[in-house]
Amino acid sequence: MLILVANLGSTSFKYRLFRMAEQGGEVIAKGAYERVTDYATVIDEALVTLQRDGIIASADDIDAVGFKTVLGKDLSGCVMAGPEVIAALDGFTAVAPAHNPPYAAGIRQFAKSLPKARLVALFETAFYQWTTEASATYAVPRSWRDIGIRRYGFHGASHKFIAERSAELCGREEVAQIARRLYLDGPQAVAAAPLRVVSCHLGGSSSVTGIRNGVAIGTSMGFSPQSGVPQNNRVGDLDSGAIPYAMRTLGLTLDEAERQLTKASGLLGLSGVSNDIRDIYAAAAAGNAEAQLALDTLVHSIRHWTGAFHFELGGLDALVFTAGIGENGPIVRAAVCKNLEPFGIHLDAAKNAACAGREAVISTDASPVKILVIPANEELVLAREVFRKLS
Ligand code: ADP
Repeated sequence: MLILVANLGSTSFKYRLFRMAEQGGEVIAKGAYERVTDYATVIDEALVTLQRDGIIASADDIDAVGFKTVLGKDLSGCVMAGPEVIAALDGFTAVAPAHNPPYAAGIRQFAKSLPKARLVALFETAFYQWTTEASATYAVPRSWRDIGIRRYGFHGASHKFIAERSAELCGREEVAQIARRLYLDGPQAVAAAPLRVVSCHLGGSSSVTGIRNGVAIGTSMGFSPQSGVPQNNRVGDLDSGAIPYAMRTLGLTLDEAERQLTKASGLLGLSGVSNDIRDIYAAAAAGNAEAQLALDTLVHSIRHWTGAFHFELGGLDALVFTAGIGENGPIVRAAVCKNLEPFGIHLDAAKNAACAGREAVISTDASPVKILVIPANEELVLAREVFRKLS
């Protein structure tokens, strides 16, 4: 099955074409366009390029297109991408302004450019559809809840991949199978002891998710991607009382307050140096106290959420690090795991220091909790889910 995974930004279009089969899949072509003003032109150009390069004989060879949609109003899951998905994205444009409009436009365009292909949307919120009502509810008045204000969670594709891969690495094939088929069959009972995992997706944006037997029990991100762990330039969790106070005291308009919280906060706002953690490592190593505070605040928040899920899961079998900072950040990983031996979390310092950008077990051999580094590959996750849905 040929599956094109479309990554749509507000001014970019990237794609990977996968050949997928039951045994796995491979990327057979990829491309990227920047400064996009019109999706129709670049999508048609990509299809022409794929034919010219002999990858496909005709555009009809593409069986399906997968979209990693972010947040839909009243809709989640892994679903066929038709008018309902577009309406759900349009309904929450104000909450995910950078993400929803490009996907709505891209889905419309692919329906025109590839009328025979099946279009599938995998919402980033899909992984959290089985969390409890209590864990997803904010204590706001009914009228707020009625307009959809609740904890949705994001990075679902990434955390679901971690659910699958960590189960494999823990030798729990039956749980891996449940995790793989989750969007087809839903959660399943497990006869043996439950597999309890905390997944730390630490990248440009970050979130921590608790997973039991392949199913998310909760996550750090909430209503919008502005929440949870401090992000590269977005605030993460903040007391709601701070916003009216800052607006009144600093004389900020709502738009300016929103801009500062979404573009000038997080690691950038704290460090004053950069939104890229590599610059912050360098500044902290050179003695910049604010850069060090940015790192410490990030680590504190990751530990806070890890601890919350450890407790809720009733123990832990694997602690996983993924995405840019998680895969390449021995400093952050060591700080997160510091002094957690009483909880069975024993980091092997040498293995941690040696691991960058590849899959590895970085706990000691005797550690009751496995500490894992698992590279993220969101496009492959998309291709797999689309393949499972359509097979
Ligand atoms: P995005 O969420 O944009 O996909 P990534 O998962 O690529 O982001 O993570 C970006 C973060 O990971 C940045 O802070 C970056 O500094 C960090 N990062 C990426 N590659 C490396 C590396 N090789 N070494 C250290 N940090 C890295």
